[in-house]
Amino acid sequence: MTPYEKNFDEVLSRIEAVRLRTNEHQIIKIVAASKYADADTIRAFYETGQRAFGENRVQDMKEKVAVLEDLPLEWHFIGRLQTNKINMLLDLDPELIQSCDSLKLAQEIDKRAAAKKKQQGILLQINSAREATKAGVDPDEAVETYLQIKASCPNLTPKGVMTIGAHTDDEKAIRKSFETTYAIFEQLQKEGAKYCSMGMSNDFELAIECGSNMLRLGSILFKGV
Ligand SMILES: *Cc1c(COP(=O)(O)O)cnc(C)c1O
Repeated sequence: MTPYEKNFDEVLSRIEAVRLRTNEHQIIKIVAASKYADADTIRAFYETGQRAFGENRVQDMKEKVAVLEDLPLEWHFIGRLQTNKINMLLDLDPELIQSCDSLKLAQEIDKRAAAKKKQQGILLQINSAREATKAGVDPDEAVETYLQIKASCPNLTPKGVMTIGAHTDDEKAIRKSFETTYAIFEQLQKEGAKYCSMGMSNDFELAIECGSNMLRLGSILFKGV
């Protein structure tokens, strides 16, 4: 077993333990947040069976996509998206842009997707703990914004929500931010929302307890290997 496999196996066991205890029918997708990993490391992870990778910077994603072109990988964009990088990102055909954090950004992506005759999947990022330093729509406006995106962006396919848990050691506050996000996701399921992307290396077990079906795991997979 390679060090990657051993590491990944341990993480999968932890995910499985919480999943079985909270909701055994839930399928949980893992997106490996690969900002700490170079192309060779991603290739090694692919060998362990991982297909979905998430990048924070468009330029980094572009370089990795080019080097790893021979593999059937699925790329997710999870970082802050500047308007002047949207075209470059769309050309990489990401499975999901998870960090769509405003109606304005959605409309910018839509405009460029229309020009390229592409249909782009997105998640609406929610600032679930209302932190000044974080991107995302205010929880109180999330449902309305999602519906506005659906109505005004024909070249986008909104597929759910994404959030980063509250930045604190206070488990109650983190749980609250996940519960807030899940409540929004529940309201949007009748609008076609499929993914509730929440949970990172330090809080994924809590996120699963709160209903997450998509984890974005970085350091726990890539560091210390
Ligand atoms: C880096 C990153 C992750 C993964 O973070 P870890 O704590 O390393 O697991 C998840 N989501 C986003 C948006 C990130 O930037």
